[in-house]
Amino acid sequence: MTINLADLIRNVPDFPVPGIQFKDITPLLQHGAAFKQVIDTLAARYEGRALDAIVGVESRGFIFSAPLAYRLGIGLVPIRKPGKLPWETFAVEYDLEYGSNKLEMHRDALAPGARVVVIDDVLATGGTVAAACQLVETAGAVVEEVACLIELLFLKGRERLANYPFFSMIQY
Ligand code: AMP
Repeated sequence: MTINLADLIRNVPDFPVPGIQFKDITPLLQHGAAFKQVIDTLAARYEGRALDAIVGVESRGFIFSAPLAYRLGIGLVPIRKPGKLPWETFAVEYDLEYGSNKLEMHRDALAPGARVVVIDDVLATGGTVAAACQLVETAGAVVEEVACLIELLFLKGRERLANYPFFSMIQY
């Protein structure tokens, strides 16, 4: 039986700031069969694609990227907020609605030519995963696809990712 994943996403108005409709994934994570369905769907999609690694974006991207990498039997590369990674890093700064943000990846995380899928939980404006893709490419690796559990269509993040195939499982 296929579970309707959207039924397990809780909308929390005005979190963390007024005006944001926060998509809370915790009800889905608590539902073992639904969480399994998400990972099984991703694994079926990426099996046989000759990927070298799964790239997970801090922090909720880690929740899906780690079991997927395990299932595919390939490595996991974390992209993290500044100051968290202990070794030499590539860094990229990107604009948010107000102010800016920075992401880092270890310089030795990906070999040139490595084929990866980039995973996060929610695609909103696309700034976060676009920055993650930039880090992958700085290392000389190749983004095969970007996948997010949820896509907020009205923010048109997909347009920002026009250079990459994109996959989402729930759309609002
Ligand atoms: P963006 O860079 O605008 O695509 O924002 C994506 C990042 O912010 C993701 O890592 C999400 O976890 C988080 N995010 C943005 N908007 C929401 C939302 N409405 N609900 C939950 N998470 C969000």
